[in-house]
Amino acid sequence: MAVYTLRAVCALRAVCALRAVCALKAVNTGFCMLTINGYIGRFAPSPTGPLHFGSLVAAIAGYIDARANNGRWLLRIEDLDPPRESSTAAAEIIKQLQTFQLEWDAQPLFQSQRLDAYQAALKQLATADYVYHCHCTRRSVTPVYGGTCRLKQSTIRPAAIRLRAGDKTIHTNDRILGKQSWNLEHDVGDFIIKRKDGRFAYQLAVVIDDHFQQVTQILRGSDLLYSTPRQIQVAACLGIKQVEYAHFPVILGSDGHKLSKQAHARSITNEDPITLLNLALSALGQPLHERSGLAKMLNQAIQSWQLEKIPKVLDIPLASLKSSNRQK
Ligand SMILES: [Zn+2]
Repeated sequence: MAVYTLRAVCALRAVCALRAVCALKAVNTGFCMLTINGYIGRFAPSPTGPLHFGSLVAAIAGYIDARANNGRWLLRIEDLDPPRESSTAAAEIIKQLQTFQLEWDAQPLFQSQRLDAYQAALKQLATADYVYHCHCTRRSVTPVYGGTCRLKQSTIRPAAIRLRAGDKTIHTNDRILGKQSWNLEHDVGDFIIKRKDGRFAYQLAVVIDDHFQQVTQILRGSDLLYSTPRQIQVAACLGIKQVEYAHFPVILGSDGHKLSKQAHARSITNEDPITLLNLALSALGQPLHERSGLAKMLNQAIQSWQLEKIPKVLDIPLASLKSSNRQK
């Protein structure tokens, strides 16, 4: 009973003293992670630069949805591609999350520390004959890979490693977009889980780490919707339980393209957090609250959070968002 009480208090995050105890246990023993059966969400940025507004929306949505469900919210730094990364970005992202008072539970997980786990998963997939080596150049592969190397059993190295998709239809009931389905052979094709340069691909690492962190809910931008069948297939091949997905609209800049670190490098660091919070809530279809302290506004946003109000569209223009109820 004592354990249960601590869990309940921790999930509600109501008592600071117990939260501190709980956080400590999570770090030292994994106690909380292993005992909570409910909602576990996560925010998983790549440290290619500081957060931009689009990634801030993902952090705010994930944090509020987790807290509104009395759940835990974890942070994972997806640092698997050093040439694309900045040595200071992870620290900048952590500082930005702290500025926005988006408190995560437990220690952040760094994917660069997880290579042994990915290798073990790859070995498991190879043993079950789910993978093969591929030498095709990116340019020669049409959006859906036709399986050119599937039967070659090439021994030339280096080579990328692909997972066999197979003729199978994947179904998911997206918490925002509703029922989704893809035929793996026609819509997806065999896909890369380890790159020719030896780096593990996002599609493999993300599944292994969501399982490791006991994530139950993935809330992310619609640009990752088409990664979903791949990740469900990786999980199925490894015997990992499928998580629940929710995809919210990505934010489009004035040029009609998704905001991204590459295209819209402007960081949010120098912007007013309260204005940005309201803009994010506007993008997510949530009510805006009067400007006050950030902690109070976040709490109000948690109280009034309704996932079903998130627009069921794939994108939304930045220019259409409101930062205040007073705006027309
Ligand atoms: Zn190939």
